Amino acid sequence: MIRQYELVEKVKSYDPDADEDLINRAYVFAMKAHGTQKRASGAPYFSHPVEVAYKLTQFKLDTASIATALLHDTVEDTDVTLDDIEASFGKEIRNLVDGVTKLSRLEGKTENMNQAENFRKLLIAMSEDLRVLLVKLADRMHNMETLKFIKNPEKRQRIARETVEIYAALAERIGMRNLKDDLQDLAFAELYPEARESIVKRLDFLRNAESAELNKTLEGIKQKLAAAGLPNAAVHGREKKPFSIWKKMENKNVEFEQLSDIIAFRIVVDDIAECYQALGVIHAEWHTIPGRFKDYISTPKSNGYQSLHTAVLGPGQQRVEIQIRTKEMEELSEYGLAAHWAYKQNDKAVRDGKQFRWIRELLDILDKSSNAEEFLENTKLEMYHDQVFCFSPKGDILAFPRGATPVDFAYAVHSGVGDTCVGAKINGRIVPLRTKLKNGDQIEIITSKTQTPSPSWERFVVTGKAKSEIRKYVRTQQRNEYINLGRAVLTKTFKQEGEELNEKMIEAHLPTFNKKNVEDLLAEVGEGLISRQHVAEVVIGARKPLEPVSNNSIISSLSKPFRKKKTSETNPMPIRGLMPNMAIHFAGCCHPLPGDRIVGIVTTGKGINIHTMDCETLENYSDSPERWIDVAWERDQTESQHVGRIRAHISHEPSALATVTNVIAKEMGNISNLKIVNRSIDFFEILIDIEVRDLPHLNNIIANLRSKEVVQSVERYQT
Ligand code: MN
Repeated sequence: MIRQYELVEKVKSYDPDADEDLINRAYVFAMKAHGTQKRASGAPYFSHPVEVAYKLTQFKLDTASIATALLHDTVEDTDVTLDDIEASFGKEIRNLVDGVTKLSRLEGKTENMNQAENFRKLLIAMSEDLRVLLVKLADRMHNMETLKFIKNPEKRQRIARETVEIYAALAERIGMRNLKDDLQDLAFAELYPEARESIVKRLDFLRNAESAELNKTLEGIKQKLAAAGLPNAAVHGREKKPFSIWKKMENKNVEFEQLSDIIAFRIVVDDIAECYQALGVIHAEWHTIPGRFKDYISTPKSNGYQSLHTAVLGPGQQRVEIQIRTKEMEELSEYGLAAHWAYKQNDKAVRDGKQFRWIRELLDILDKSSNAEEFLENTKLEMYHDQVFCFSPKGDILAFPRGATPVDFAYAVHSGVGDTCVGAKINGRIVPLRTKLKNGDQIEIITSKTQTPSPSWERFVVTGKAKSEIRKYVRTQQRNEYINLGRAVLTKTFKQEGEELNEKMIEAHLPTFNKKNVEDLLAEVGEGLISRQHVAEVVIGARKPLEPVSNNSIISSLSKPFRKKKTSETNPMPIRGLMPNMAIHFAGCCHPLPGDRIVGIVTTGKGINIHTMDCETLENYSDSPERWIDVAWERDQTESQHVGRIRAHISHEPSALATVTNVIAKEMGNISNLKIVNRSIDFFEILIDIEVRDLPHLNNIIANLRSKEVVQSVERYQT
């Protein structure tokens, strides 16, 4: 453990006027307060605040910050109150300790609580004085260094995730790159130890394998700079950190070997003029890679970062990334806000973080209003990279996993809204229901009382709520269908026995079937799990084998909306994958037949059109996949009739047409329409619509027609 005098000496080394007495008193106060408390490692608890204070000396922070670091856990973890702190150390340190305590209380809650609200609290706590954040970051750093002592793996993971998502992101925001790198690396080791290990090994290998090459490049750059009058320019190679390599691999979905910029070179010179001079030397010597030059000196990043970035094809034609900056910029890039702190301790503007535009804007928004939209727009921390925040028309904010769609939004508002959702507007524009939501989108859901959830939605929704509600609806619908079918089957069966179906009668026999209620039994009869015969035997003592009951004729009596005008009296819609009560049409362009692969297209106001899978009309719908519905023919097609269309060229002779119609009639096809489309001296071209059972039936008719001499050619006709 770092001794009291070591800490004091360290502070005095960069701040000879430091208030030695203040540090000593804070040291003793905290040591007494924590008493015999122990860390998870078994070390005395007091070692922790001392380590945190020592870390802050690396950033050359002022005595108030150092004292705050020593005291930072006393209010949260001991009997000490904020008033005690104020009585001993004054108002300034009280406020600092209060800020750190507030931040600490948010820890561990960031996952479950309303994140936007939490984030807001976090920003308010740290915005009062940015030194609060610096102490907190050092605190988190030490906790990450000692993370391995926490026994519960879930807790370790939670802390590691929070570190990446919040603290590393904040460190980056205030430009403390070293701290950010260290936090990320420690969290990485906890979250993905194997990935990290393999990247570290690979880096070691590359360093050894390519060190000669790299040295040559480095020497090459140095010589060129010296020859151009910059002998003092320092050049060194800098490796990317394992975590950022891994991020890049994840984001761009590339292999390690494909990453070209593992090692970057950095040139550090004396002043800004020399930066541009060095840039000139590099660009004159090697080919630049287009799009890679960035001037962060004339336009610094929002966290204050300054540097020139470029990439060239270096010696040996390999890609080399180069950063050029001054010593001051270098220090700022490493220590960020803390570097400013060290340079200008008495600058009130610096202490309040006023030179950081993002903080200032944030504070303005927090001060002025609680407009959530504005708030989010301006808080571009990437801590919620896996989430999108969207707004209801009233301005309420809702968070979704990335990839969520308006249907997810609709179900998040209310399951009734989801169930009746027919369309959506994003920022006032009508969009397909499968559109992915973006941060800040304002969503309006269009509903219709007659709409019901589409099973196809399940393929693109991402939230559990939407998924389960859609599934629930589909299951209920299926069950209702089975119940109705079961009831119809039994009604008919009982009738054959001269009995009226009476559900009371069935109820008495439920235990025999091990069912709780009549509907359960009807559903299983409808699904075919329990035979109608079995039920008839048990309930009315039927013995003789029953006449077969065609399911199709029963369905037709149930599904009125499915019926087509004439044939449907006996022929129901033989298609699976549809909701009941959906209007349905066979497309006139392709005349689908059982046996064809088919697809349903939702049309506005007209229900569903069934097309063959290869129908050219489908191209018109390729941009609106939400209108596509998976459908298939029912297997048993013996009784239903469908219209198939054929085109034939037949000889222009007296009996030709009669021959054709006879063949069709003999093969049990029913001609519903016949049209002569072309007439020449020798041939007729005719289109014939024939009611057939299915595709094989039509093919059979076509084959028979081909065998006739009068038929020149015949084919199925689809436009
Ligand atoms: Mn702590």
